[in-house]
Amino acid sequence: MAAMLDIKDINVYYGAIHAIKGISLTVNEGEIVTLIGANGAGKSTTLRTVSGLLTPKEGEIKFLGETISGLPAQDIVRAGISQVPEGRRIFANMTVMENLELGAYIRTDKEGIEKDYQMVFERFPRLAERKEQQAGTLSGGEQQMLAMGRALMSRPKLLLLDEPSMGLAPLLIREIFNIIVDINKAGTTVLLVEQNANMALSIANRAYVLETGRITLSGDAKELAASEDVRKAYLGG
Ligand code: ATP
Repeated sequence: MAAMLDIKDINVYYGAIHAIKGISLTVNEGEIVTLIGANGAGKSTTLRTVSGLLTPKEGEIKFLGETISGLPAQDIVRAGISQVPEGRRIFANMTVMENLELGAYIRTDKEGIEKDYQMVFERFPRLAERKEQQAGTLSGGEQQMLAMGRALMSRPKLLLLDEPSMGLAPLLIREIFNIIVDINKAGTTVLLVEQNANMALSIANRAYVLETGRITLSGDAKELAASEDVRKAYLGG
């Protein structure tokens, strides 16, 4: 069976900086795949390239059999990929509801959109209590939930999550990760970038380890979590 997302040997640059040096990876329908690695390894750059914010200089990205590398970001959203960016990037001066409405901007099916607001509020009851609140006044965890809710409003087939644990207390990280598992069980495929390798490997099916723009290890998440090299480098020994 062909992979849902197929990244083939991409090279990505920021001007003269060669950030991604020939990365290939796949995500199959229904999986949670995680990309782990130290600061600056190129995890966010990889996600930004999938979502069309960056274009690979070489290589190709296919989604559901179609080439998406080179397409404008909004066409990639339309194809079924939605990104929750690092640092949430919610619209601070808008309400919770207005942020969610923006997430649905590519859609015209009013009834479906209404249903999905309900789905988001069921998944994130804290947002339901705060529909009219200015998003900038939400706590860090609530902002992460809003960013995820906004991404779900485009009804993605593939959800890209960039460091959802960033800046959150351990209990809240667990809550967010439980929600990621629920979203996946409900049918959304997930590509998760994380510095918190322990948590990421605990929920993922497969994982890739990134080091300075290259994949150095990949495989079954449980096996990687048990591997001596990964433990030493990323899981605190
Ligand atoms: P982190 O966990 O710190 O976000 P990361 O693995 O996501 O790290 P990237 O943000 O993808 O790493 O960065 C990969 C490399 O590209 C780094 O060397 C970084 O300095 C560089 N880089 C990232 N964004 C830019 C940019 N806008 N301009 C120039 N270089 C950049």
